[in-house]
Amino acid sequence: MEADQPKRFGTIFTKNIAISSNTKLFRLDFKKGESFNFLAGQFVMIARKTEEGKEVKRAYSFCSPPYEKGYTEYCVKIVSGGAISEWFDKLPLNTEVEIIGPYGKFVVTDFSKDILMIAAGTGIAPFRGMIKQLLHDGFNKKIHLLYGFHSEHDYLFRKEIEQLAAMHKNLIVRPTASIPENPSAWKFDTGRVISIVPKYIKDTNFSTFVCGPPPMVKDTVNELKNIGFNEKGIHLDVWG
Ligand SMILES: Cc1cc2nc3c(=O)[nH]c(=O)nc-3n(C[C@H](O)[C@H](O)[C@H](O)COP(=O)(O)OP(=O)(O)OC[C@H]3O[C@@H](n4cnc5c(N)ncnc54)[C@H](O)[C@@H]3O)c2cc1C
Repeated sequence: MEADQPKRFGTIFTKNIAISSNTKLFRLDFKKGESFNFLAGQFVMIARKTEEGKEVKRAYSFCSPPYEKGYTEYCVKIVSGGAISEWFDKLPLNTEVEIIGPYGKFVVTDFSKDILMIAAGTGIAPFRGMIKQLLHDGFNKKIHLLYGFHSEHDYLFRKEIEQLAAMHKNLIVRPTASIPENPSAWKFDTGRVISIVPKYIKDTNFSTFVCGPPPMVKDTVNELKNIGFNEKGIHLDVWG
């Protein structure tokens, strides 16, 4: 399937669920008879008009896979005073929300290799959609997910990711908490995601994707280069 050219749509806000202390899962339903083709890993611009009539837009990655029809989902960190994230969070359900998309090249194009995904925080968003779509399509090479977050309470989609990994042996998940709140109960790695890259990644034969804030992406790319990765071959989604 190919992605459509970007278009502007009115969608209906139908779900607002807290998935951590500062992150929400939002769902936007397409209106009857409307939809677009997108690829897992792409994003939309969510747009609104301010009281002064100025349009404000921000990018949000699809965190639902294309095979789920009729709606798209977004995993959004609520930023205090944020022109879109805070506004979105306060919006009543069933309000119309304008989106423009799909955009982006953070998509799997080489299905012949194992895939390496490295995420920090809400950077898991595009990977949730990509992993669900790949497994749904029967992708049988390995998918390695290295995922870093602040504490165990910030492990977004934990139950779902663990269930998928239990059902699909080719999904290998390495979570790491920077500062576990309950270290004796946390059985996985501790430290930033960059610190576990050399522990688990010993060769370079992957389609590689990195998503997170600029310092994390920069440090991770440097670490991958130390292992021998060619920077040009790494797909980056930088949320600066
Ligand atoms: C391709 C792409 C995909 C993206 N996908 C997602 C996604 O799926 N989920 C998601 O949550 N974000 C995503 N982002 C980031 C998103 O576009 C916004 O930048 C973010 O939500 C802040 O927008 P805002 O309007 O709420 O805040 P703004 O009005 O832009 O900022 C308000 C204040 O908060 C600060 N700020 C901005 N972002 C953060 C932050 N993350 N943490 C702390 N302070 C911050 C700003 O510096 C400013 O001082 C993506 C960005 C890109 C480029």
